[in-house]
Amino acid sequence: MTVRPLIAGNWKMYGRQASLLELDAIAARAATASGFDVAICPPFPLLALAAARAGQLGIGAQDCRADPDGAFTGDVNAAMVKDAGAAFVIVGHSERRQGHGETDAAVRAKAEAALAAGLIPIVCVGETLAQRQAGAAAAVVEAQVRASVPGAYPDGGLVLAYEPVWAIGSGLTPSLEEIEEIHGVARAALPSPAAILYGGSVKPTNAVEILAVPGVDGALVGGASLKAADFIAIIDAMAQQIRVG
Ligand code: PEP
Repeated sequence: MTVRPLIAGNWKMYGRQASLLELDAIAARAATASGFDVAICPPFPLLALAAARAGQLGIGAQDCRADPDGAFTGDVNAAMVKDAGAAFVIVGHSERRQGHGETDAAVRAKAEAALAAGLIPIVCVGETLAQRQAGAAAAVVEAQVRASVPGAYPDGGLVLAYEPVWAIGSGLTPSLEEIEEIHGVARAALPSPAAILYGGSVKPTNAVEILAVPGVDGALVGGASLKAADFIAIIDAMAQQIRVG
């Protein structure tokens, strides 16, 4: 069973063709990464352009529709993402769960469609602030993993991302002990081994300590993935962890 660390960047709804210069710098650093993978998930219009110049840098989409081709105006399915040259697709990001009403069942269907298309789904789970304050973080994440992650996937074929909703874009992070606890809970709920990323306000300033937490197999990075210098500092932190770890 392979659990290969991954540093993945989520550009969200940011980026134009000019942003591909940042991607080029990230790709140059990714080309020398050893023992872990690096990926960037740009918005759909940049997907094929990014894939064409990515080299060893993995490219991912930020969502996909679970259905095969059909009359679904404005939507993009997993086969189209694969056809654009991507290797990954994020599914179940909290901004989709909250903003688009995506349920665990819908997220699981997207992850299954991604697997069927030959993509590696990055399945996101995480508790809200109210759930954490109610002492329910572990139970919420366990239930989300059980309901959102497909029952079977190839060795190395699925990635989980633990992203506390309240930590995303806020500058706040759980304590290192809390991250370790939830990663343990998530790992126990997975049907088979998979890399588990931490996501939520990972920056160059905290990446070293977060990536050293036992059970953290990498990071899903939003804001700090938009500037090559910041993201490369996080890649460097992963490389340092691989060396000492
Ligand atoms: C994210 O969008 O998945 C994320 C973790 O964002 P940020 O790093 O900006 O908190």
